[in-house]
Amino acid sequence: MLANDKPNRLPDWFRVTLPSGDSMERYKSTTASVKENQLHTVCEEAHCPNIHDCWGRGTATFMVAGKACTRGCRFCAVDTIRIPPPPEEDEPQKLAEAIQAMGLTYSVITVVNRDDLEDGGASHYRKCLDEVHKTVPHVGLELLCSDLSGNLKALESLLNSAPLKVFAHNVETVARLTPRVRDPRATFEQSILILKKAKELRPDIMTKSSIMLGLGETEEDLVEAFKALREANVDLLTLGQYLAPGPGYHPVVSFPKPETFDRLAHIAKEMGFKAIASGPMVRSSYRAESLVAAAKGEKIDTGLKVVA
Ligand code: SF4
Repeated sequence: MLANDKPNRLPDWFRVTLPSGDSMERYKSTTASVKENQLHTVCEEAHCPNIHDCWGRGTATFMVAGKACTRGCRFCAVDTIRIPPPPEEDEPQKLAEAIQAMGLTYSVITVVNRDDLEDGGASHYRKCLDEVHKTVPHVGLELLCSDLSGNLKALESLLNSAPLKVFAHNVETVARLTPRVRDPRATFEQSILILKKAKELRPDIMTKSSIMLGLGETEEDLVEAFKALREANVDLLTLGQYLAPGPGYHPVVSFPKPETFDRLAHIAKEMGFKAIASGPMVRSSYRAESLVAAAKGEKIDTGLKVVA
């Protein structure tokens, strides 16, 4: 196991600062944009610990194709539903309006799994990307996608000329722990396949994945996962601490120290990732614009520590 003693309470490095002054105003206006457009965010649904920070800086990660997911992973707070209602036809437009109103320059859009739909939701995800791009063409788009049940035809139609800067799909944990952590329909190999094919289909855009630490993985497991991601030509990596959303979820097995996150970032860099964000509070979408910029040798100072 990676790690240290498992404390009974959150370690000291989990300090959440509540917004005040200007950031409080931005937090309120982000909340208003989300509510007015009746949109869902992974920030709220996944109980993200960074919500005050991100919303206080005027950013949020929208979650499209529904509020509940057809899968029931043991780490995830998003509700599960077997047969969800069809995706809302006006969602692409509402999403575009919210992103425009928020004045964003970069936006991460994520999705729920739609195993009930033949294309896994790909055509709806694509409509959302296209509508946002049509409305605000200057906004850089990152799609944090599902594995589309390994449907490569759906992936191709989703990615063909899509207005994207980054295609992300999270393996979430190492291969050995995947059956314990993720829904049985999600396999490590299927996730690697989707990432590999995405890069083959769109070598012009960056691909990205994310791993949670603290689920019982060893450093060897992690190095193996990094290797598999690099073999799929994944460019960007984020590593963050897993926090259990509540009782009944996968337990937190350890709280690796910030120094461990730093060391792993340097190991990943040696293995060829273009940029890595690694730290207890890092999440896949956390200050995502900085990670892409760092990979291109540019700098956008959002305070995110990046190894590039
Ligand atoms: S890290 Fe991502 S999910 Fe969490 S609050 Fe920020 S934008 Fe939302």
